[in-house]
Amino acid sequence: MPGRQNDPTNPTDLTPTRKTLISTEIDYEREGFQTGVLRIPYSHDRSAYGHIPAPVAVLKQGAGPTVLLTGGNHGDEYEGPLALMKLLQRMPTMQIQGRLIVIPALNFPAFLNGSRTSPIDRGNLNRMFPGDRNGSVTAMIAHYVDSELFPRADVVLDLHAGGASFNHMPTLLAALPSDPARRAEYLKLVDAFAAPHTMIMDLLGEDRTYGAAAERHGTLFLCGEFGGFGSCNVEGLAIVEQGLRRVLHATGLTRGDSPPPPRHDTRFIAVEGTRHYLFAPRHGVFEPCFTLGQQVAAGELAGRLFDPHAPWERPRELHFGAAGMVVCARSFAGVAPGDCIALLASPATL
Ligand SMILES: [Zn+2]
Repeated sequence: MPGRQNDPTNPTDLTPTRKTLISTEIDYEREGFQTGVLRIPYSHDRSAYGHIPAPVAVLKQGAGPTVLLTGGNHGDEYEGPLALMKLLQRMPTMQIQGRLIVIPALNFPAFLNGSRTSPIDRGNLNRMFPGDRNGSVTAMIAHYVDSELFPRADVVLDLHAGGASFNHMPTLLAALPSDPARRAEYLKLVDAFAAPHTMIMDLLGEDRTYGAAAERHGTLFLCGEFGGFGSCNVEGLAIVEQGLRRVLHATGLTRGDSPPPPRHDTRFIAVEGTRHYLFAPRHGVFEPCFTLGQQVAAGELAGRLFDPHAPWERPRELHFGAAGMVVCARSFAGVAPGDCIALLASPATL
């Protein structure tokens, strides 16, 4: 059944005809190297007909897979964007078979602001999928990715870090497809990336993420956390850069490249439900009794929570709910009820 069309003679027919309101001069089907911007409409007090220009680059050479690389999904995470900006320096002279789409800072307003969420609408891009064509700036970005980029991509990598509120061990995050053939294909990419750890994340049912949306499209999707503190982790950046080169090679996109051999055989770990999360039960100032990467036992003292309004009272002791390795730790000592203070992961077998 043909879709409904606009009637140009009827001014009251306002059926939207464009799948997205974000436009670009980039032609994803054109051969060669292109740079440009995604023009995200943003009409506001100081710019009535304005837009936000978010940089994008595409290299297409012949037939082959399409790989989408994104960073800056959160604006205070820097290893991904820096690795991708360095990749952009090489892209014009790269020899590939297929198509490479690179967006170093997907939530561009957040990235320019150095914040997790957008200063325009407070949008957390990674909690807004599948987005909204007619929504806020951040919702429109999510919708563009979901409707224009995911359908074109065979492999997607989204590069994260802990941001200002966390420090995270450099870790690839894996979401294994259930289909055995797809799973084998996926594990080749995991092995190629060769992060020190590969973690099966448990977001406690959260399904508004970029990753959940990519999986709904049947795309092979990898992401990872490579540092934190709103800074650039030097080791994390090296892991990302080398991992990307090996993954691009493993997809067949850069067959002529000779990427550096892996430094690690990745170790699989898994987050298993709320028992691996440590949350703050009340406001206070938290004294941690652990360090990132430490192995802890179930019931072990995690830290003490002091009440700044009654500093003479005994601090409340917090204990880990399960054994595991501390893969992620909160940056800020001040906590509010519900804040995640630490995340654990246990060794996993696939
Ligand atoms: Zn992130």
